[in-house]
This record gives sequence, C-alpha cells and structure tokens, in this order.
Amino acid sequence: MKNYAIILAGGSGSRMNMEIPKQFLPLKEKPIIAWSMEAFESINDIDAIIVVVDPKYFKKIEEIAKKYKINKFLKSVSGGKTRQESSLNAIKSINFDNNDILLLHDAARPFITKEIIKNSIEFTKEYGASAVYVPAIDTITEINNNIVTNIPDRKNLFYAQTPQSFTFNIINDAHKNFDNTKLATDDVSLVLNNNKKIYKIIGNYSNLKITTEFDYKIAKQICK
Ligand code: C5P
Repeated sequence: MKNYAIILAGGSGSRMNMEIPKQFLPLKEKPIIAWSMEAFESINDIDAIIVVVDPKYFKKIEEIAKKYKINKFLKSVSGGKTRQESSLNAIKSINFDNNDILLLHDAARPFITKEIIKNSIEFTKEYGASAVYVPAIDTITEINNNIVTNIPDRKNLFYAQTPQSFTFNIINDAHKNFDNTKLATDDVSLVLNNNKKIYKIIGNYSNLKITTEFDYKIAKQICK
C-alpha cells in the first residue's frame, strides 16, 4: 500500500489574466507549485508525487523538481479540459493498487501544512475517504435570477479545501459511475454521488486557493 500526492495544476489561470498559469507565479521567488511539492516531499509517509499539468509545462515541472530536490516526483500527467478530467487522467496514469491512497491537492494552494497532510493519510487509511474543510465565515446565499431564494444555516456550511483523499478503488469507482453530463468541481462530489461517506478534516484558513490577483496579493503578504 502506497500513498501518492497528486498535484492538480492543469488549470490555465484565466481568472488572473496572466500569460503564465498561476501555479508558476513566484512566492518568495519560489513557484507556487513548488511550495506544495516541498510539503508533500517532507512527509515520510508520502511515497510519490504526480503532477497534472499541460504537457507544454512538463519540462518546467522537471526543472522545478530538480531545483527543489523533490526526489519523490514520479511523473507529469496531461491535464484535462476540466478539473474532473485532470483528476481522471491522474487516476489512469499508473497501475495503482486498490488500497493505495491518493491525496488530490490543488497546485494553487501553496500553504498546505504537514499536519493536514498527515491527518489526510491517517483518516483515509481508516475511513477510505477524507477531505479538508474550514467553517464558512460569511453568510452564503442562494440567488436565482437576481432574487434571493435561500439562506442555508451557516453552522452546516464549510469551505472545501484540499487535499481530498481516497483509496484508489473508491475514487476510481466514483469516476466510473459519475454521470459525465454533469460537472464536478471537486473530487468529493464524485465520491458523494457514489454514496460513500467522506470524513471531515479540519483545515486552515491560510490553506487558501490562489484564484484571483487579490488572492495572490494576500498570499504574498502571508509569506512575509
Ligand atoms: O479552477 P479551480 O481554481 O477550481 O482549480 C483548482 C485546481 O485544479 C488548480 O490547482 C488547477 O490548476 C487545477 N485544475 C486542473 N485542470 C483543470 C482545471 C483546474 O488540474 N482543467
């Protein structure tokens, strides 16, 4: 049984209007993706790291792995059109054993902590599926055609973070059984749809996803 970190970096970063995808932007001179590669590298229980990215960046990832001594870097895998497709490409990329644990992590979340990674491995071993969440701080509102239609009770609402971790058989079955006319914005949606229980791991507000230029500014402040 092995534990694999799968770093999803297949997005184009179009919401930041930059030529270079956000995962390669520097944070303290280190590319955003290198931060999570280093974090997974530092955990003894992680056996290998797979990066999902546009093939035109395969060479760049190899250079980053070399520069930051990511010895567990195994391979790069082509990104898909959607995050869901990128996750599927990773799952098909090598012959995983059914009990292997796959920790799927957004490359755009550089501040993943060792504690979160360790908890993800421990609880996925026990429950087969786990994911990282922090309580919602804002009141979240459903709006249809400019009209407020529902305000769900905030105490039941959480922001989803990553890693989202599963044994290979659970995430593989979830992909196989998913209705592909629908779009899943995270891996938990696929697994939940397959009627599996997912264990909640407490995340950290600093494990933010860099999506907009504002997030990038905040990330730079956190580094300071
Ligand atoms: O688009 P979103 O911000 O939700 O993306 C979350 C993560 O999924 C990012 O790290 C992004 O690079 C990755 N992604 C991917 N393939 C896509 C779209 C997003 O690997 N087609």
